[in-house]
Amino acid sequence: MLYLPCPKCNGELQVRVAKQGPKAGLEFYGCDNFPLCKFTAGKTNVVDLVKKEIFKKQIPTQDSKYWTKENLSKLSKKEIRFLASINDVSFDKQDGINDIVDGLLSLNNFELFQLQNKDWCFMYNIASDFFSGFKFIHNFKSKFLNTNDKEFEVTNNRGVVGGIFKASGSKVLLEFNDNYQIKNESGNMIVLILNQDNKSALAQVVNPQVINSKNFSDFLLTIRN
Ligand SMILES: [Zn+2]
Repeated sequence: MLYLPCPKCNGELQVRVAKQGPKAGLEFYGCDNFPLCKFTAGKTNVVDLVKKEIFKKQIPTQDSKYWTKENLSKLSKKEIRFLASINDVSFDKQDGINDIVDGLLSLNNFELFQLQNKDWCFMYNIASDFFSGFKFIHNFKSKFLNTNDKEFEVTNNRGVVGGIFKASGSKVLLEFNDNYQIKNESGNMIVLILNQDNKSALAQVVNPQVINSKNFSDFLLTIRN
């Protein structure tokens, strides 16, 4: 759910319908403190406009690769909630700021989970619009990974070699080359689909909402021992 704080006051933007004037009948965003606050924004550019108005501090927090507890703690509650909202981190109105920060930070993690028996899945959430030259190392202990090291060349759907994905006894490493870029829509996930036969991993941008229990294995990378 999109949370749009009013850049001019502590209100929240809501969809309104223009009652008069040349735009009568058209929807726009207005502040819920109207008539005390007269801030308005068009429907198409509202997110960009709020982003521009809200993130005036010189903190590189819009890109998830700069997300750390320290960086995010410099933002106000309004900024944190907006940042969470545009990255599809869900929160309740009563959630404390630390909970929302933890939600944002977890986006930078691999998820490794067991589907059933010997089927394991990896996926990687990324929240920035573009990424390149990315390296992620995730340390953990896992029964599954106590097998031989596995290494896969990462490619995209045009077949361009983008980096490597390695899984070993105690860690997972995902490394993308500097010149390898994937355009990501906010809220989508990057999923690696592993092909054990030719040792390659296809990096694919996926909207998590299209994944369900029936097509799970088509999207998520699965390794069978
Ligand atoms: Zn306002």
